[in-house]
Amino acid sequence: MPDICPKCGQPRELCVCGEIAKEQQKVRIQVTKRHFGKMVTLITGFDKSVDIEGIAKEMRKKLACGGTVKNGVIELQGNQKDRAKELLKKIGYNEALLEG
Ligand SMILES: [Zn+2]
Repeated sequence: MPDICPKCGQPRELCVCGEIAKEQQKVRIQVTKRHFGKMVTLITGFDKSVDIEGIAKEMRKKLACGGTVKNGVIELQGNQKDRAKELLKKIGYNEALLEG
């Protein structure tokens, strides 16, 4: 099944909505403690046009940690705040709009 952008209807490879949206998106990075003191990093605020799965995949690879996507939220294992922020900047997110 082709991956189609919900905003413009183009295949993901041709769509630039995500690129445009990245610069305007206010993304929030939070670190919270789960059961048994386990730390998780939650990244919220992504636009629907963004390939969130792709970003999560990149993060798992670059940060060498476990991670999932649920309801548009990236959840990474451990405290990945600083490194996740760096990575978001690198892929085009506006540092001024990164919260957390
Ligand atoms: Zn699009």
